[in-house]
This record gives sequence, C-alpha cells and structure tokens, in this order.
Amino acid sequence: MQQDELWIGTMLEGNARWVLVKTTDIVEEARRRHGMSPVATAALGRLMTGTLILASALKGEESITLRLLGDGPLEGVVAVGNARGEVRGYVREPLADLPLKASGKLDVGGAVGLGELSVSRSLQNGEVFTGTVPLVSGEIAEDLVHYLLTSEQILSAMLLGVLVEKDYHVAGAGGLLIQPLPGATEEDIQAIESQLGQLQMGISELIAQSQTIDELLGHLMGQLPHHVLERRKVTFSCTCSKERLSDTLVSIGKKEIADLISDGNAEMVCHFCNEHYQFNKEDLQQILERA
Ligand SMILES: [Zn+2]
Repeated sequence: MQQDELWIGTMLEGNARWVLVKTTDIVEEARRRHGMSPVATAALGRLMTGTLILASALKGEESITLRLLGDGPLEGVVAVGNARGEVRGYVREPLADLPLKASGKLDVGGAVGLGELSVSRSLQNGEVFTGTVPLVSGEIAEDLVHYLLTSEQILSAMLLGVLVEKDYHVAGAGGLLIQPLPGATEEDIQAIESQLGQLQMGISELIAQSQTIDELLGHLMGQLPHHVLERRKVTFSCTCSKERLSDTLVSIGKKEIADLISDGNAEMVCHFCNEHYQFNKEDLQQILERA
C-alpha cells in the first residue's frame, strides 16, 4: 500500500463532500514511539485519524486538539492536528489492555469509558474555541459524528478504523467522512447510508487489503459517482525540541533547577511523541541563569 495521504472530494453531483485518509504509517509510528497495547493503539489511532479529518478544513497556522476524557483504563486520549496534515498524540496509560469484545474486535469503547469529548480549535490570531459533548459510546467515530451534529449542526457519516495484528503492528488504519451539502436530497442521504451499510468489511480491513488509495476509494464509494479534488500528504509530526523543553524547565523555579544541577543531569520526555531529551550540568546552569 502507498504512503499515508488525505484525499478530499465531492460525490453525488456535488451534493456531498467527503474526506478519506489512510493513516497506517502514522498509527504504526505512534504505536512504536509510545509502546502501546493493541486497544491503546486502536483508540489513539482512531482519534488521530479523526483529528486529521477535522484538521483538513483548517487554514495556515490553525490547529485542532481532540481530547477523550473518559473513566476507562486509558485515562484519557489526546491528539493534535494542523492544516499541514501533521498529527501527534498520546494516551495516558499506553499499556492499558482489555479482553476482546464478543465480536472479536478491540474494546475501544470500554477502554475509553464514559466521559466527554472536547474539541479545541486554535485560530491564527491565537484565539481558542472549545466545544465539549458527552461521549456517546467511546468508539470515537460515533462520538465525533455526535459532536459535529450538536456543536456545529453538521450532519455527517464517519468511519474510523485501526487493524492491529497479533504481533501488535498496525496492518491498516484510516477514516472516511461524508457530509451532505445544502443541495442534498433525501435520496442522496439514503444512497450514502445504503452504500456504507453494505460494506463487507471495516475500513481498516479494506485499507489492509487495498494496494492503492484509489482502489480503497472505489471500494468505499461503490456505484456512487464521486470526484477527487485534492490529495495531501499526512504525517506523524511533533513540535517538541530541546529548546522548547528548556523553556519549560526555566519556568519550574530556581530552587528546582538548582536541585537538578546537584543531581548532575535531567531528562525530559515529550508526552506527545515520547522523545527523550537529556540536559547535562552545563545545560542546566544556562537554564538557571535564564530563570
Ligand atoms: Zn514531541
């Protein structure tokens, strides 16, 4: 299968828009970086995929943060995406695991638990708008559809999926969003529902079995007429750096920095990508001078 990409297009003679994204490489990178259990991989993978879909409507330096704050064993899942197709994220408890559901599927809803979904958009001017809705099922696609309907009054259908193999590697991940536009008729909406309802397998299995995104799109759209407007690269990408983390260290207070200096060194880990940064005595001296 080709590298991860996000495609945007129209369907049903312009009466609906769709966004399709393949995220297998992104979710595998997140799994490897965070050392996640299968259910944690599925939860974070679905949330990062949904984040990229919502971020595809952003412009310039805008970004979007999705947080699942549930009472399940994952204790929270966070993803941040931007208009450049970059996404990063983490779960609070990457090793949390649960038995499979009776259907043989990973129990993402159980691992997320009951709670809320919050969506924060950061605009170019620094303003942040946050909308929060209760979780419907914790299965994530349903929760995002509910959010779009109640907070933004947009009717949508969404598929999100992550297929994790027995050896824990990610065999397929991605998502599809379809939104009827103002010209859509009742027949258009029924045609979309009936096409999605007759898919023989989940989107993650379809991704694992397709050779190209074009082939995948064909499977998902069936006989519905559709048109591709745009193709974009998407990547797992974090904004952390040693400089940024030293800014954080500057703010912890002089006494705390002095304590670190007497320990001889310090290590800081980025939550979002699990990158480890080492600070030696000289680094810490400079940080103390800036504090
Ligand atoms: Zn990072």
